[in-house]
Amino acid sequence: MSLEKERYADVIVDVTQASMDRSYQYRIPPELENKIRIGCVVRIPFGNGKRSAEGYVLNIGTEPRIARDRIKPILEVPENRVTIESKLIELALWMKTTYGSSLNNALKTVLPVREKEKHAVREEVSLVWPEKKTRLLLEQYTRRHYAAKVRLLTALLKTNELEKSYVTGTLKITPESLRSLEREGVISVRSADLTRTPDDLQEPEEKEKPCILTAEQSRVCNGILREWEGANRPCLIRGVTGSGKTLVYMDLMEKVLKEGRQVILLIPEIALSWQNVKRFRSRFGNAVTILNSKMSKGERYDQFERLKKGEAQIVIGPRSALFTPFPKLGLIIIDEEQESSYRSENAPRYDARETALERARIENAHVVFGSATPSVDSVFRCREGRYAGFLLESRYGNADLPAVHVEDMREELRHGNRSILSEALREAVKERLERKEQTILFLNRRGYSGFISCRSCGEVIKCPHCDVSLTFHTNGKLVCHYCGYEISQVSRCPSCGSPYIGGFRAGTEKVEAELHRFFPEAGIIRMDADTTRKKDGYARILRSFASGEADILVGTQMIVKGHDFPRVTLVGVLAADLSLFVSDYRAAERTYQLLVQAVGRAGRGDLPGEAYIQTYHPDHYSIRAAAKQDYDAFYDEEMLAREMMHYPPACNLLAIHGSCADEQRLVVAMGHLKRYLIRNQSRDTVIIGPAPENIRKIQDIYRQVLYVKEPDEERIIRLRRLAEKFIEINSGFNRMMFQYDLNA
Ligand code: ADP
Ligand code: ZN
Ligand code: ZN
Repeated sequence: MSLEKERYADVIVDVTQASMDRSYQYRIPPELENKIRIGCVVRIPFGNGKRSAEGYVLNIGTEPRIARDRIKPILEVPENRVTIESKLIELALWMKTTYGSSLNNALKTVLPVREKEKHAVREEVSLVWPEKKTRLLLEQYTRRHYAAKVRLLTALLKTNELEKSYVTGTLKITPESLRSLEREGVISVRSADLTRTPDDLQEPEEKEKPCILTAEQSRVCNGILREWEGANRPCLIRGVTGSGKTLVYMDLMEKVLKEGRQVILLIPEIALSWQNVKRFRSRFGNAVTILNSKMSKGERYDQFERLKKGEAQIVIGPRSALFTPFPKLGLIIIDEEQESSYRSENAPRYDARETALERARIENAHVVFGSATPSVDSVFRCREGRYAGFLLESRYGNADLPAVHVEDMREELRHGNRSILSEALREAVKERLERKEQTILFLNRRGYSGFISCRSCGEVIKCPHCDVSLTFHTNGKLVCHYCGYEISQVSRCPSCGSPYIGGFRAGTEKVEAELHRFFPEAGIIRMDADTTRKKDGYARILRSFASGEADILVGTQMIVKGHDFPRVTLVGVLAADLSLFVSDYRAAERTYQLLVQAVGRAGRGDLPGEAYIQTYHPDHYSIRAAAKQDYDAFYDEEMLAREMMHYPPACNLLAIHGSCADEQRLVVAMGHLKRYLIRNQSRDTVIIGPAPENIRKIQDIYRQVLYVKEPDEERIIRLRRLAEKFIEINSGFNRMMFQYDLNA
């Protein structure tokens, strides 16, 4: 026996189960000691007999979980067996350490889990006969009063293909009728495999030839290629909308594909439309496939299996597509990198950008970020030289950016205008209606009105469970957007009984109503969380607006993202301040980004555009900079603020969120935690709180937050790990939940 403590490895054999509780412990023999790392492939004795199997090391420790003499040794570490799974397990471990989650959760996030689900099949009824022949048959059936067959053929003549459940259910066609039509060869009934994505079904028409890049575009493209050959730093392309970022991405992709490597392109969920993917498919054909978050785990697993076999080389998808198990990943592109949807809200609460950098490091791949309005964090890293920065300054064809007017709403009020539209914006809308051009009006808020309050005593009507104000909907109900709690509109203040109670501020519905009053002839479409809730609601509204069915589109922030409407020549931002004063250190950044994107919606076609920004704070730097589309001016002011307040990227910020049904206990426990962290902090650490979260309770669970600011990243991660340990071993934290956000 050696004097050294023996070491054990947790080994998982079937990674598609991706779970720590499926792992087994094995002894690490001394001769394999320096070959074994987390994620590596090992051969182990398995089962009762003399069988052996390959597995992956998930963890290494010194504590045996079962009687020592029952733990078998690892047999060997196969040479040169680096699999995709090993690399993903390594990534999961990094995520666990960086974001603070269980290894189990991290593994489940990166490894697709096979689900033993019933193979979903859908049967389809389709028309085989040509239309003319079918019409003749239909006439015969009509004469003979074969009502069922008439119903079916009439329907099939309209669409060609129907789901069988619809045919037997809604159309009430009996199996006998179906069979007889099938026997005659009029129709066919076959199963469509649901695991296939829509893109498998249609080979794209013609492949598009690559565009010739402009001088500016090829300068950026070549610059990035040079960076790849050299230091291979992450590259950030800042390019105004319409400058050709997408074309640069395509040329880079082509380069990587030629080397036999694969590409992941992340785009924000909301922009993942067929329209956007089509562009890539017309260039790369069936090499392109999509992943989306609506897929079930089983579907994702099937899709991943196909990709592992090399059935496609480019994946386009949201955050989770980052874990596509490509055998030779060459490039990860993240478009609109500032989008908050790249951050996971479930543990591990990872940032897809940071995680992409780590995956690229493990697999020796490249990373490219792109945006018209990049995050302050990324630009900061460019200035520090950690990223390579590239600029696309002109729109293709030198299309002009719209003229922007800032409207001071305080002035409007002083002149007696209490409406939602300033005089100037109302005039501008009128002009567009006369010229048959389109208008987009943007309001960063959903529902009918913000909140209901009493004008006598100031009381705001709140959800009894969530400490947020209830929102008034036109169905007469007051609704809580966090938990769904709902009451009927009240006519008297619950606190003082005054009848002077009412809503403040406008929501999209109110704007719509007011527009109808101003412009009774105009066609108006509203787009917000309520009107897009149904499947395809979003696409349907965009399509109908694009086809010119309405003159004015009113909506929340979802209308400002990535869509081209050539006939839109006017954009109005109704209340720029709504996103400016929320309590979040990124409020100014978000406001700047939203305003620039909104303004960019105007004048995308041949007609020049114009934009109006209505605000109560016309002098705020993010509004002034957005009006001029001056990113650098915004960035400089914003960085000054971040440095003064020690916010990221000037400093690291760790939020420790605690929640518990007992508020008193929670406050005491968070206080303990704070004192413990203070004992372990560095000279530069600042700890703030604990304080109630913005929303103090949700569904009767109280929430408190502790903020830790620390310039050194390693030290702040160390503090988080100490906190995790402390919480784990102290009974004072029982029945409390903790979550960590680093630089979120
Ligand atoms: P971004 O992704 O930066 O918004 P796009 O790549 O979508 O920009 O380009 C905007 C529009 O200009 C597209 O319709 C694109 O086809 C066109 N375009 C840009 N660069 C070129 C080029 N070099 N040749 C031809 N068309 C171009
Ligand atoms: Zn009152
Ligand atoms: Zn609630």
